[in-house]
Amino acid sequence: SATVINGKDLAQELRNNMKEEVSELKEKGIIPHLTVILVGDNPASKSYVNGKKKASEETGIVSDIIELPVSTTEEELLNLIKELNQDVSVHGILVQLPLPEHIKEEHIIETIIPSKDVDGFHPINIGRMMTGNDSLLPCTPYGIVTMLKSRNITIQGKHAVVIGRSNIVGKPVGQLLLNENATVTYCHSKTRNLKEHTTRADILIVAIGIPNVINRDHLKQDAVVIDVGINRTDNGSLTGDVDFESAKSKASYITPVPRGVGPMTIAMLLKNTIKAAKGLSIN
Ligand code: NAD
Repeated sequence: SATVINGKDLAQELRNNMKEEVSELKEKGIIPHLTVILVGDNPASKSYVNGKKKASEETGIVSDIIELPVSTTEEELLNLIKELNQDVSVHGILVQLPLPEHIKEEHIIETIIPSKDVDGFHPINIGRMMTGNDSLLPCTPYGIVTMLKSRNITIQGKHAVVIGRSNIVGKPVGQLLLNENATVTYCHSKTRNLKEHTTRADILIVAIGIPNVINRDHLKQDAVVIDVGINRTDNGSLTGDVDFESAKSKASYITPVPRGVGPMTIAMLLKNTIKAAKGLSIN
């Protein structure tokens, strides 16, 4: 039965280390500062944003949430971002997605100055990641690779199969694994014979958004299984894309939901904010 990689504990460990980094920065007069913008009142977004603020404050990072009404225009939001781009006391800017339909996400993402783009979604950061240059990395993929490395799981030469090709998870996690010298296969909603691909995976990354669609029949014996999915069940609890008990009986390592990738995503956001505050991110 697989070893469970507890993302909650690992994220806590990372936050403890970051606390020290933050206090060293403060001694030098740099106060790491993250500004999160929330437009509208999507309850899931609200809870994500609050989680980010709480984790920031635990490490000593100053964090504020700017809440805007759903009626906010794209121009108003762009103007706010431009102000924050100029504000030297703000190191990280995060606009919580999804945005209301009348605001074009790519306009917003492309307006955040890349050096403060702590979500790592700006095309310049994505491009630098693709070319293997230093950049602010997208938080969920960065968290996944950090989880693998925390257990000394070999990535080089391994066959990694990614299910899902979103811009925030699937595509960038495949790229990061490629940067680590994995052989990468992408699967998605149009993939035929999904199992033919997944059963060849040494490392299987599942980012679909459908509860329990992946089980032991999809796995190679002793595969490493990372479940990115966050699905809300009828009784309000959270569940992943992987049938945990079934997959656990065949995998070598597996991540649970909750307490898996989710807390790691937030920890990497804090890491990016500290990097931006140190002025190490690109301009
Ligand atoms: P998305 O909806 O943008 O993408 C889903 C992907 O799954 C698509 O690329 C699609 O082609 C693929 N897909 C859909 N049905 C499929 C099928 N039957 N077989 C194979 N592929 C299929 O979602 P996303 O933003 O990438 O998020 C995926 C999941 O991860 C969601 O549950 C989301 O809530 C979760 N998520 C978790 C975190 C975290 O921090 N843990 C962060 C982001 C997203």
